[in-house]
Amino acid sequence: MSEFDLSAFPVGHTTMVQLGAYVSIVSLIWWLEWRTFAGSLRSKWKHSTVNLLFMASALPIQIGTSLIAIQVGNWTEAHQWGLLPLLPGSSSLWVQFGLMLLMFDFLDYIYHSTVHRAPFLWRFHLVHHSDLALDVSTTVREHPGDTVFRNSFMLFCFFMSGASVEALLMWQIAAALSNLLAHTPFRLPYWPNRVIGWIFITPNLHHVHHHFRQPYTDRNYGNVFSLWDRLFGTLTSLPRGGTVFGVDTHMDAALTGSYARMMAAPLRRAPESAA
Ligand SMILES: [Zn+2]
Repeated sequence: MSEFDLSAFPVGHTTMVQLGAYVSIVSLIWWLEWRTFAGSLRSKWKHSTVNLLFMASALPIQIGTSLIAIQVGNWTEAHQWGLLPLLPGSSSLWVQFGLMLLMFDFLDYIYHSTVHRAPFLWRFHLVHHSDLALDVSTTVREHPGDTVFRNSFMLFCFFMSGASVEALLMWQIAAALSNLLAHTPFRLPYWPNRVIGWIFITPNLHHVHHHFRQPYTDRNYGNVFSLWDRLFGTLTSLPRGGTVFGVDTHMDAALTGSYARMMAAPLRRAPESAA
């Protein structure tokens, strides 16, 4: 039996169901985007192909992380290790999920803002930002190096939290859905955005984070909640008309549209920012 034979892990099936559900939701949103914005199917497909290649590159890392997380969760549960078992009420799955959602969304905010500030990590993360058009496929446009660093950090946090695998699964679903919606070109009207944006990161708010120039690239780091950006003074808004997607050092479509060149981008010295 191969070391990576998923049938060796009963819970490997959960990982595959999760993956199947994720691909189905991405496909549905992608189709809705195409129907709503009536662009050319050929150009939308061409744009998405590059991003799907990034998803394929990161897939073994995502599956590997899930399998490690399951082993970690089983160990922490058996040994009553970590922060959550110390808190009252944490034996309830819903309490664990609520605590984890708050805690991990905050940690995600800290990690994301660090990646923007640390030049070495930014070289990898800028691949995600270099998409010149935003749609649901941008969500999976991530350099494998970026995936390895983030997953390692979140895995360490999961170990320290002592949360159960079930709570991790629920948090992953909430975080993934929020992340997918944030990258769609669908935007909320003014008032719904103001109201929902008080608590959650809306597509309107995340689009600001994908604006090509500073200070907007370094704003709206949140994934699920806008609370952290509000607390740390990094929340900003921009109208759709004023938003240009990309990153100012990498605005050449021939470069950003090439999977091979963007895979090699972290190894090259980035040109000076035009901002
Ligand atoms: Zn970012």
